[in-house]
Amino acid sequence: MSEALRQLSDLLGRLPGIGRRNAQRLSFHLVLRSDDAYVQALAQAIGSVRSRVQRCSVCRNLCEQELCEICSDPRRDHARVCVVASVPDLWAVEESHAYRGAYFVLHGLLAPLEGLGPDDLGVDHLRQRVERDEVQEVIVATRPSLEGEATASLVRTTLAGLPLRMTRLASGISYGGELEFADSMTLSRAFADRKEMS
Ligand SMILES: [Zn+2]
Repeated sequence: MSEALRQLSDLLGRLPGIGRRNAQRLSFHLVLRSDDAYVQALAQAIGSVRSRVQRCSVCRNLCEQELCEICSDPRRDHARVCVVASVPDLWAVEESHAYRGAYFVLHGLLAPLEGLGPDDLGVDHLRQRVERDEVQEVIVATRPSLEGEATASLVRTTLAGLPLRMTRLASGISYGGELEFADSMTLSRAFADRKEMS
């Protein structure tokens, strides 16, 4: 194999869910089956995405301005904040149309062995925001798993003592299941039946 193809395959193969075989297939496709304009556009999109995309200063959603479109939308209920593990989870909730409040994105779940601690999840930032914006309800939508429950506990202790309602999404999302793969009906029910956190 040519050095250039090998290098591209190695790089593509490091992406999650691709694997060595698919990485080779994609590399050949880019060389043999794609037109120049597409390959240029792809290279440019990859090259610029990290400088264009940033974290929203309020909720840590990904966006290109200081505030994401949800935080800057006056029609949303900013007194309610749904805490999600990832941007795909946020998208899943948005697509369900079950919720019209604001968000906070943790970008991970508590996993001390993998080096993901409270600082990485930004929970202090969440507390400051809840205090500043007089948030009335925080809905923890981390998935039902060991890490998801540990993260929910962390959010609860971080916000302890503040005058607000703290709820947890109801069952329906199977244990260990990913929020981002739950269907809209399941998510709507999970929001409607959310439980108070003790
Ligand atoms: Zn935002």
